[in-house]
Amino acid sequence: MRDKNVLPKIMVSACLLGEPTRYDGGNMKVHHPVLEQWIQQGMIISFCPEVEGGLITPRPPAEIINGDGTHVLDGDVKVLDINGQDVTQPYKLGASKALQVAQKNGVGLGILKAQSPSCGSQMIYDGTFSMTLKPGKGVTAALLERNGIRVFNEDEIDAAADYLTNLTLSIP
Ligand code: SF4
Repeated sequence: MRDKNVLPKIMVSACLLGEPTRYDGGNMKVHHPVLEQWIQQGMIISFCPEVEGGLITPRPPAEIINGDGTHVLDGDVKVLDINGQDVTQPYKLGASKALQVAQKNGVGLGILKAQSPSCGSQMIYDGTFSMTLKPGKGVTAALLERNGIRVFNEDEIDAAADYLTNLTLSIP
């Protein structure tokens, strides 16, 4: 049972916090007052599943072929980089490490980078490397949600704050 005096932690994609973990060596730092407040309160767990899965930075872009993160977790489809290299295992390893860290630290929700083959929670690129999006989840987002950790993206921080409030109120 969760201690009602200990607020749930929030896992945030490292690149959204300004860490240069993206495939191109850049970041996607987000400026949002609620996120700043959570950082000040020590509620944020920064995590990059691709780096933790063992991939180097910079690295070739990768996409999930013929499916989404749920299908990758089930072993039905692969993640390939743009050169055709199979990077499924690092993606699955990064997802599993994210879940371990989340469970160990009492993470109640995630704010993960939209459209990433690891972190995307609603739309991902369709596997054709043509910048075409389709509905679906990245591998880490799929694993977290499969284990009851709701995932939002960087455009949904206000909704995440509402969710956190309800989550906190529901702690017995
Ligand atoms: Fe950011 Fe996630 Fe990509 Fe890492 S895997 S760079 S945290 S979007």
